[in-house]
Amino acid sequence: MCVFCKIVNGEIPSKKIYEDENVIGILDISQATVGHSLIIPKKHYENILSIDDIDYLNVMKAVKLVTNKIGRNLPVKGFNILNNCNEAAGQTVMHFHVHILPRYDNDDLKIEFKSHELDLDEIQTKINL
Ligand code: 5GP
Ligand code: ZN
Repeated sequence: MCVFCKIVNGEIPSKKIYEDENVIGILDISQATVGHSLIIPKKHYENILSIDDIDYLNVMKAVKLVTNKIGRNLPVKGFNILNNCNEAAGQTVMHFHVHILPRYDNDDLKIEFKSHELDLDEIQTKINL
């Protein structure tokens, strides 16, 4: 059983900040910024490619709710909302989850997009095949 299934079952302790019938919200054990949280469906799905539509919506509704809750109660200036899909993208726990990363003045989180000069028409054609 995966680590998040164990957390959902209560076999591993966690700092819960949200719970409903289908979803839990917990503090990430490794706080990239203060209040870094994870929203996790109670049912095991590996990633965004395989999660059931309704459970995906359940998770995203909780993401919005918990983001607002953090924003009300911590001196936050913004958020990054992030999902890593598969090892190539940095996923380490293979149970779908969404990161909520509160942002502060002078925090040290770096999320960087480098720009590449690519043929957008060609990419669009490939994706729309
Ligand atoms: P990923 O890299 O898969 O997108 O994110 C997995 C996250 O789960 C990491 O940020 C990691 O710190 C967190 N994590 C791993 N094991 C545990 C745990 O046992 N408890 C909690 N609260 N977070 C965990
Ligand atoms: Zn699991």
